[in-house]
Amino acid sequence: MSRIDGTAIAQKVHEETRQRIAALAARGIQPGLAVVLVGDDPASRAYVRSKDKRAADLGLHSVKHELPAPTSQADLIALVRTLNADPAIHGILVQSPPPAHIDESAVVVAIDPRKDVDGFHPLNVAKLALDDPTGFVPCTPLGCIRLLQEAGIETAGARAVVVGRSMIVGKPMALLLLRRGTDATVTVAHSRTRDLAAVTREADIVIAAIGRPHFLGAGHIRPGATVIDVGINRIDDPSSPKGYKLVGDVDYDAVAEKCAAITPVPGGVGPMTIALLMANTVTACERLTA
Ligand code: NDP
Repeated sequence: MSRIDGTAIAQKVHEETRQRIAALAARGIQPGLAVVLVGDDPASRAYVRSKDKRAADLGLHSVKHELPAPTSQADLIALVRTLNADPAIHGILVQSPPPAHIDESAVVVAIDPRKDVDGFHPLNVAKLALDDPTGFVPCTPLGCIRLLQEAGIETAGARAVVVGRSMIVGKPMALLLLRRGTDATVTVAHSRTRDLAAVTREADIVIAAIGRPHFLGAGHIRPGATVIDVGINRIDDPSSPKGYKLVGDVDYDAVAEKCAAITPVPGGVGPMTIALLMANTVTACERLTA
């Protein structure tokens, strides 16, 4: 079994991004990323902190807007419009999920699609479905594809099963695997799928994006398959100073014995999501300043 090292592959992506930032700097241009967080969800705060830190480390102009939980939808959209018009900002990310009184889709459509580095705007969703490369693709599935490429996993003609059908991970993941050039034969499973284990056992590549700790076990995986674990779940761990630890949707120890390659949690998909966010921001800047 080989462990696919997302941290090392993310470093490689960051080095490419650094070079692109240097090329922009030679033209007197600095890419800018604005991250907006509404409320004080601890996991969201941690993500925003790490995105901001990584952006600053790469030499991006990084702006963090932390708004109180009662912020109105109108005020949030007004901030998005200000960022749309700000020439120093090329990428805008509103951390998901916002508080319940905010309609997330109304906020997403307010983002200028050219600055929608998360790839959630309907125009970018359509471009992904249309195989139009001028759009933005959500960072997590894009990171999963890069992991497969870097690990040398053959996708052409492979049977891939994506477990999960969210707009953030599952659906764009399925479209990317299906895309010409990647050429997998794709099945998407979800909570209503009958006999999930029988479906996933057919797969050469399993992508788990479920949100349930250790949900996929050895019985779900065919010997020799590749497993990409997108899940990030907090479970109690009295032995950790924080009182919890992060685990994936896959029972790593049980599955690792059987599969050909697997991503760990943490250190798999997570670092790739941030790396592709930075890369998308630089792409947005390159396009907006071309
Ligand atoms: P969602 O809750 O939006 O979607 C979960 C999906 O899993 C749904 O499609 C759901 O089916 C399906 N599902 C739930 N229970 C079952 C079941 N028993 N059998 C089969 N399918 C099931 O989650 P996200 O897609 O946003 O995230 C998934 C996981 O990935 C989470 O752990 C999240 O934290 C993590 N994540 C990690 C990221 C990273 O950077 N590594 C980034 C984004 C997410 P149905 O549609 O029928 O309800």
